Amino acid sequence: MTHSSDQPAIRHTPGDRQQLSTPREASHSFPQSTVDYSTPALATPYLKVENVHKTFGQYVALRSIYLDVYPGEFLCLLGPSGCGKTTLLRIISGLEEQTSGRVIQAGKDVSHLPASKRDFGIVFQSYALFPNLTATQNIAYGLQNAKEPKQRIRTRVEELLNLVGLEGLGNKYPSQMSGGQQQRVALARALALSPGLLLLDEPLSALDAQVRVKLRTEITQLQKRLGVTTVMVTHDQAEALAMADRIVVMDKGHIAQVGTPRVIYQRPSTPFVANFIGVMNLLQGVAISPEQVRCGNMILSVAQDVVSPHNAVTIAIRPEDIWVLSEEQLHQPNLPNVLTAEVERVEFLGSGYRLNLRPDGDFKDSLAVDVSTHEARRLDLSPNSRLKIQLPPELIQAF
Ligand code: ATP
Repeated sequence: MTHSSDQPAIRHTPGDRQQLSTPREASHSFPQSTVDYSTPALATPYLKVENVHKTFGQYVALRSIYLDVYPGEFLCLLGPSGCGKTTLLRIISGLEEQTSGRVIQAGKDVSHLPASKRDFGIVFQSYALFPNLTATQNIAYGLQNAKEPKQRIRTRVEELLNLVGLEGLGNKYPSQMSGGQQQRVALARALALSPGLLLLDEPLSALDAQVRVKLRTEITQLQKRLGVTTVMVTHDQAEALAMADRIVVMDKGHIAQVGTPRVIYQRPSTPFVANFIGVMNLLQGVAISPEQVRCGNMILSVAQDVVSPHNAVTIAIRPEDIWVLSEEQLHQPNLPNVLTAEVERVEFLGSGYRLNLRPDGDFKDSLAVDVSTHEARRLDLSPNSRLKIQLPPELIQAF
């Protein structure tokens, strides 16, 4: 089934996402799957990547990549340097050809079409504007090549300058504009021909922190307003969590997990994803029953069934999910997973503190624990002081 403009597009919006509980209420079952259950089952993907494989000589850059991108969706390809995300974006655009596999866009097999024959707009990290052309001329470039009438080009460029917040700056040359302004021009140029697909290759990495945060909000708002299906490459997890409808986490040429930002953060399917997204405490242990893991000399209860007894298990828990217990909480009977730990280091984060705590016993690693400023006031955080902490079983993930 093809997606065409006269066909109602089935849009994947944040509202389609499965409502997940907050970390404090997280469910105790963590499916070990790379599939995101929030994917709208009935929507027809606008873009399909089918079993794509890419080698450079002997080197395997991508293997068995399957990906569906839904109409109007904002998808982020996220992963460490060298994992293959740029290669995948280049294959989607036709700037690079896959060794095998197919790319289907709007129901049409575009696998062997050159970039110039495909329907996409692209923004690069380095802006890639023509330095000898003004903002207006840069934006008009593709429209002129498409032999659009002059008046139509003038109106469209004005419209695009307004869209990206550059009204009145059309006569400036790239060298007379800030990085953020140049990237807005690049975005307007990419959108000029109303492409079916918007590709963003680390568009914010060259900008300073404040501009980056401002522009990321603007780009997501604009993308939602236009409803243009978008694939963005980034190695910045905060950017992916803030901008994406779904994130594709890549590792060494394969897809480690696909899911909404919330699923990726709360239910990482592998220790790699858990460690790559946000900060995660990872403890090595051995399963002693389906719901108990021995870590050092401590037995921790977990709320999910872990692998069979005697198998090695990695326990994962986020710093914000570890509780520092108050006097009253300490008196609650049968509180599971309570440890005594010594304060090693306190780091001020602005909105709160990150504590490095060394649990008593033969735990190998210290634990990162986040507390709010308010909570920190009631605690003795001086070096070597001792705190009681709890690792709530339902917030522990076991791999
Ligand atoms: P980064 O964030 O550093 O750009 P990436 O995840 O985008 O990393 P790719 O640029 O896709 O990674 O590269 C994936 C792997 O393929 C890397 O090991 C890279 O060295 C290799 N590679 C990419 N392009 C080529 C090429 N043209 N020839 C040979 N090897 C290449």
